[in-house]
Amino acid sequence: MCRGGQARFKAVGCRQPLGKVDEKGILQTPGRIRRQKPTIVSSNLTPCYKKTMESKNLDDIIWELAEFHGSMPPGLVIGAYMVDYARELLGETKGKLNAVAETRHCLIDAIQVMTPCTMGNKYLWLVDYGRFALTLYDRDTKQGIRVYIDMKKIPGENYPELYAFLLRKRDPEILNDMRLREISNAKVIDEVNRAKRDILSYQKVEVKFPRKPEMLPSIVCRKCSEPFLSDGAGICTACDSKGYYTQLK
Ligand SMILES: [Zn+2]
Repeated sequence: MCRGGQARFKAVGCRQPLGKVDEKGILQTPGRIRRQKPTIVSSNLTPCYKKTMESKNLDDIIWELAEFHGSMPPGLVIGAYMVDYARELLGETKGKLNAVAETRHCLIDAIQVMTPCTMGNKYLWLVDYGRFALTLYDRDTKQGIRVYIDMKKIPGENYPELYAFLLRKRDPEILNDMRLREISNAKVIDEVNRAKRDILSYQKVEVKFPRKPEMLPSIVCRKCSEPFLSDGAGICTACDSKGYYTQLK
């Protein structure tokens, strides 16, 4: 969903990952995110929440997301609407807010920026179903809200660009041509901004996770001597011939 944007964004060195800014400071791109009324007003924040996010409208948050992510692909904008919707539906939680991402694409960054839940603090779980969906839930009750993209609400005749984007039916040329991809992304984002939450649905759910991720003991690998988390094995996964790398000479 978001290939190739990072290097270019860094090179530009500003908040506008799409197109150029003219002398009046206006972003010259068909995909400019339009200003819109603030939609994040709820206060369902856990104590560790970044308070600065509370007072910002969704438009500003999307720009921050783009900075964090390194570009502004359509999936990131969709993800912002999804997280915003899930937070509002869930309301205030008594226990700590936890999240589940069902994809490792853009949505996961929207969750990490717009909620207190990150992979690092272990309030965000990744269950990679390849579905563009998330759940926000109360860790104490395990009950929460799952928000997903509802294809029944996205007829191709109403949202041709978004439809093609979601089903990966866009012109294959966009994979090789950055300019074509940006133009296409801008059209998709335009449709997403028009639809907002209209393309989303939600379910009330109860998650099956343990309250906290299990913390295994740390032992020293007999082969590489690095400490690793294990429930008994004396050799780490990497040394057990399942490593993701081979050491170069
Ligand atoms: Zn090892």
